[in-house]
Amino acid sequence: MTDTFYGSDFDALSSFDPEISGILLSELDRIRSGLQLIASENLSSPRVLTALGSTLSNKYAEGYPGRRYYGGCSEVDKAEELAIARCRELFGAEHANVQPHSGASANQAVYGAFLNPGETILAMSLPHGGHLTHGTKVSFSGKWFDAVHYGVDPETEDIDYDEMERLAKEHRPKVILSGGSAIPRLIDFERIRAICDEVGAIMWVDAAHFIGLVAGQAIPSPVPHADVVSFTTHKVLRGPRSGALVCKEEHAKAIDKAVFPMMQGGPQMHTVAAKAVNFKECATPEYQRYAAEVVENAKVLAQGLAERGIRPTTGGTDTHLALLDLQGVGVTGVDAEARCDAAGIVLNKNAIPNDPQKPSVASGIRVGTPCLTTQGMGTEQMTTVAELIHTAVTKGDADPEHEVSRQVRGTVTELVEAFPAYPR
Ligand SMILES: *Cc1c(COP(=O)(O)O)cnc(C)c1O
Repeated sequence: MTDTFYGSDFDALSSFDPEISGILLSELDRIRSGLQLIASENLSSPRVLTALGSTLSNKYAEGYPGRRYYGGCSEVDKAEELAIARCRELFGAEHANVQPHSGASANQAVYGAFLNPGETILAMSLPHGGHLTHGTKVSFSGKWFDAVHYGVDPETEDIDYDEMERLAKEHRPKVILSGGSAIPRLIDFERIRAICDEVGAIMWVDAAHFIGLVAGQAIPSPVPHADVVSFTTHKVLRGPRSGALVCKEEHAKAIDKAVFPMMQGGPQMHTVAAKAVNFKECATPEYQRYAAEVVENAKVLAQGLAERGIRPTTGGTDTHLALLDLQGVGVTGVDAEARCDAAGIVLNKNAIPNDPQKPSVASGIRVGTPCLTTQGMGTEQMTTVAELIHTAVTKGDADPEHEVSRQVRGTVTELVEAFPAYPR
């Protein structure tokens, strides 16, 4: 018999709080009934969810294993030591910090470790695929640091490394940051390392989106090249909603001090344990096959949309996501998102490089294959999904009762019944 106090006890929750337990159930229904194409989302395993719903959530463990500010840390120390060892092993990293609460918190710690307020960072611009925490004015990163931005080459729509080099020489940034949330292609880490060495900058890679593909050995790793790599654990990686950092040994002290006590208080030990479970999952042959399939599926999906007149920027993808330019079919990102939503297809509007529309309207959508691949869908299904997206975007309507919404939703239902999320 399982002691329900090891993990979640749904019955106890639902008898006490039918409102919240009802939301847990209806969210599960929502996930199961549609196609989840948000590139930054995934479906973590029941094992990971069990660790998240455990009593480790109660424990205060400020500090690091063996050096805590609180007593009673013997068991959570073991969990964190396992998470650190597995993380280092998975990525071949000299040092790992598994305490960041999220991707943004991990990034905050990198700023704290390497930069003083007012110092310069060179990063990818948000409208070209970067991230809010990469020096935008609405974030601490742009308010407290002097951010200079490179973008994509207007011809190739891929990262403009020449511009990165030119700006690096001109501004002499302390840190050069690469990575972002809408970059479909592989990043040339060797080239960035050379630019960093040329100007004496720290090389920081924000691998939040693609770290799962690195873990599954489906794409090259930034870890051997970078001084520090920050990432989320809930995107392709498929772990709990959280973050982590790996770095060279020479930066270990600075990174650890920046995570705690500079930026965070007590670590969330249930999440640390869930990260340990996830890192163990990622080291399996099944996960490696999964990562390869995620990329294969994204390529076929992008190709299928391209054939129907919805152009992937850069001409396609090497990763789990594609950024699609809707100008050729004359639909805005915001309308496409609403039409797809009405048809049971969940994706997001996204600015494309040099977008003529404002970000709240956008000329593009972003799609990713982590969730559908977790559900077991393969290339054959991706061709169907491309057709469904095309139909919803070009002929559909934001009204779920519209004929096209209903028709597309019918095929979506067939797909998710054959490839269920969280199968019963
Ligand atoms: C998702 C993401 C983050 C932020 O992660 P949160 O866990 O949402 O804070 C940071 N950087 C990049 C590039 C991301 O894609």
